[in-house]
Amino acid sequence: MATRKSNTLKLKFDSARNLSPAPESKSAAKIEPRYDLFINGKFEKPLSKKYFSTINPATEEKLSEVADANAADVNKAVVAARTAYDKVWKKMPAKERAKYIYRIARIMQERAREFAVVETLDGGKPIRESRDFDIPTAANHFFYYAGWADKLEYAFPNRTAKPLGVAGQIIPWNFPLLMAAWKIAPALATGNTVVLKPAETTPLTALKLAEIIQEADLPPGVVNIITGAGATGAALVNHPDINKIAFTGSTAVGKMIQHAIAGTNKKATLELGGKAANIIFDDAPLDQAVEGVINGIFFNQGHVCCAGSRLYVQESVFKEVIRKLKDRMETLIVGDPLDKNTDIGAINSRQQLDIINNYLKIGKQEGAEMYQSSCNLPRKGFFCKPTIFTNVAQSNRIAQEEIFGPVLAIQSFRTDDEVIEKANNTPFGLSAGIWTDKGSKIFNLSSKMRAGVVWANSFNKFDPSSPFGGYKESGYGREGGLHGLSGYVNLV
Ligand code: NAP
Ligand code: MG
Repeated sequence: MATRKSNTLKLKFDSARNLSPAPESKSAAKIEPRYDLFINGKFEKPLSKKYFSTINPATEEKLSEVADANAADVNKAVVAARTAYDKVWKKMPAKERAKYIYRIARIMQERAREFAVVETLDGGKPIRESRDFDIPTAANHFFYYAGWADKLEYAFPNRTAKPLGVAGQIIPWNFPLLMAAWKIAPALATGNTVVLKPAETTPLTALKLAEIIQEADLPPGVVNIITGAGATGAALVNHPDINKIAFTGSTAVGKMIQHAIAGTNKKATLELGGKAANIIFDDAPLDQAVEGVINGIFFNQGHVCCAGSRLYVQESVFKEVIRKLKDRMETLIVGDPLDKNTDIGAINSRQQLDIINNYLKIGKQEGAEMYQSSCNLPRKGFFCKPTIFTNVAQSNRIAQEEIFGPVLAIQSFRTDDEVIEKANNTPFGLSAGIWTDKGSKIFNLSSKMRAGVVWANSFNKFDPSSPFGGYKESGYGREGGLHGLSGYVNLV
């Protein structure tokens, strides 16, 4: 029986892995050999005179080079944003502002295929994700906030919402265009102007968004996009004429930003790291739960702040869940991100791959048992096999620290109270998932979990109308939905 089962399984794996390649054509991606800084509606050469390369992490090939903005460049962008704010944007009737935001959304939809290919080339995520999730969700954020621009009196009844001024926005590499949309759309809808800095490893879709902004004829200076490394971000944070910092990234840099703006009038929203718990009860639909767990941690190579990187399984179904999980992991296809069959693409950078591999070592040293799928990895590029750890203790680093890779730490539990305590026992509190047949359990747990989002019988679901943000070291402030407007207004 065991042999027959494993033979059937083997056949299934082989057929999944032996699918003929179905690569998306690169011809849709128009990438210039060099990009300057987008300031005051034009691409301007950097005062720093410096450029750096951005590569395709799946092949290690150079895609383009982008400007490295220094403090003088940052100043130029902030001056452009301030001038546009004072002279044009804050005076413009809200319904006129809305038209520009709608236009950005529509052009993004028209160019969706091109953007998906560029996102996948620059960041390494599977084309299925950039095509079906990142780009459409980014466009939806612009549509959603365009709708609010002339309805702020309904968003804030009996109050007047005034814009803050110039927003400095700094974003990470895991959802490059989507994070830009999360930041820019609500800022524009509420009448602010923007200087945005994308991450060093994934600047291209933000620069292509600058092309859309030109095409949409947005008044010059309302959105400025400047590339650079951490120092460029720090210069933006420290610029005296910034009214608001919106940051998504690591908890370490979030803390540095808090220190830097202490004692100033700058407002901030910080979206930081996470260590989400997925909880499977014995009454859950197990196949569905396993699929959700797979999606929760292996989606986007685990480069997701709200990734379900911890799994708690009720003791009576523990063995069964682990078996199903391993079976499903075997069918996952790791490889060329441009291939439409690929489930797990490339790790975003060599540096991130080193961090993940170091955690695999730490996990083993801590005494946890590691299991990886038997797939082969491409020889070039940065790749990691989907990995699970069992025999994990709550105090282990792999159960406490954010790994930001396709690595899942699994523990068992017996009672509701025990799992609530364990799930809440990390410095983070961004998201969580509960899998059960009982509505009462969902209500009980979701009210006791210290996490900004709790998904029930689903995971990693997003909608522009729903707020997102953390507890504890996962940051403060909310993005998305009505709540996302609050971070960009003074209410009088
Ligand atoms: P990171 O190092 O904090 O970088 C985020 C952004 O900040 C990048 O643009 C980065 O530039 C810039 N930066 C670096 N040092 C800076 C400084 N001293 N001052 C100002 N800006 C600075 O984070 P990451 O490693 O790129 O991204 C992964 C992290 O983001 C994870 O911890 C993840 O949980 C978190 N994240 C959170 C959310 C959320 O919504 N809560 C969403 C996505 C990601 P460079 O790229 O040039 O370093
Ligand atoms: Mg890149």
